[in-house]
Amino acid sequence: MASHPVRVAEPYRGAARSALRFTRSVVTMQIPTGTAGAYVLLRYYPNDALPVYDGRSDTCLRRRLIRHPLRGLASRFLVAPTCNPEQAFAVESPWYHQYRSEGFPVMNRIHPASPAGTGRRCPFCPNGATARALDRTFPNPVPSISRSTP
Ligand SMILES: [Zn+2]
Repeated sequence: MASHPVRVAEPYRGAARSALRFTRSVVTMQIPTGTAGAYVLLRYYPNDALPVYDGRSDTCLRRRLIRHPLRGLASRFLVAPTCNPEQAFAVESPWYHQYRSEGFPVMNRIHPASPAGTGRRCPFCPNGATARALDRTFPNPVPSISRSTP
């Protein structure tokens, strides 16, 4: 069978898929320089681990994580390397919405920015492509039971 290289968010060779210790040395060992991608920072408690921040780098994940101001507060991290900033945005955006909707104490203050010069919009925003696709698929929502009849 012919193999077709997959160029979307493949992990690095040998990279862990689980959360890694958020130290300078682990970041340096695990992430090649000049790689775009998204990340989640996690804070560990005795019986739990919670996401505290999600972000991305369009140019160098390693540099972003080494300089991250939450290193110390967050003790673990997850990364999703991507081939380009658009893919990193596509990974970061659903994380952003998911963690908020699930009530996690994430510290992000603003929605992920669109990659510079791309004009990309987040498909997961309330008026984004995903919501519009649902509206097209289900054009006649079930009437609310609280709707009053004339
Ligand atoms: Zn959004």
